[in-house]
Amino acid sequence: MDKCKLCLKESVLQESHILPNSIAKRIKNNGQTIVITNNRHPKAENSNFNYVEPMFCWDCEQILCKYEKYGTNVTINKNLIKRKGDDLVVFKVDFKKYYLYLISILWRAGLTNHREFSTVRLGLPFLELMRNCLLENKLTWQKIHLEDLISISIIKIKNEYPHLTDESIRKIIITPRLDEDNSQTRYYYMMYDGFVFAYYYTGHSSLIQNRTKPKFRLRRSTRNKFPAKGIKSIPIINNKLYDAQLAAQPKKT
Ligand SMILES: [Zn+2]
Repeated sequence: MDKCKLCLKESVLQESHILPNSIAKRIKNNGQTIVITNNRHPKAENSNFNYVEPMFCWDCEQILCKYEKYGTNVTINKNLIKRKGDDLVVFKVDFKKYYLYLISILWRAGLTNHREFSTVRLGLPFLELMRNCLLENKLTWQKIHLEDLISISIIKIKNEYPHLTDESIRKIIITPRLDEDNSQTRYYYMMYDGFVFAYYYTGHSSLIQNRTKPKFRLRRSTRNKFPAKGIKSIPIINNKLYDAQLAAQPKKT
């Protein structure tokens, strides 16, 4: 028996996935996954994408599963995501469901002991806020509005290499990295399923309202616009894609 990280009750813990299992299955299907991990010198490596850890009780797995069921469908559902010209995508999503789903990923990344996620250090106040919001399916806890603290931006990644396919772009994973934008706002970002997800927040230990919100962020709107950018514009990919391509080559027999 151990303590479930969501409800905090003593229970038999399940092998919980850090990134949703359905995404992992989708990515692993028919080929290798290229993972760019967040080492001091990031390098591309093939991975079985098996990031699991005993974290939640069975009941809480079901709670998280509801967020996942909604969220993991979005990136493959052509009714929910539409291209708008060459440089934009429109997400037609239920804000609360999709935002909490994306928060559940960041939260798990902040909890796990896997080294691939070690960059994510959110601090106890943030983790507690997220935990309570996820447990109660709410955006507010103790009068603190989660979306005032964490803004989430999404970028659709376009393939620019003739020898890569959209499908192979979807199999590139970037495990969480910490970066700063021009106004020195920090954000974590990760890539999977052909999208970069960036979480803008203000600090590790204090719950300060995030005043510099990114232009493209998930809002309480039924139509959210996000940029579509070429893969070469994502710095770490640009630096590392050569390695990734080499790793992606089928091994000669
Ligand atoms: Zn639980």
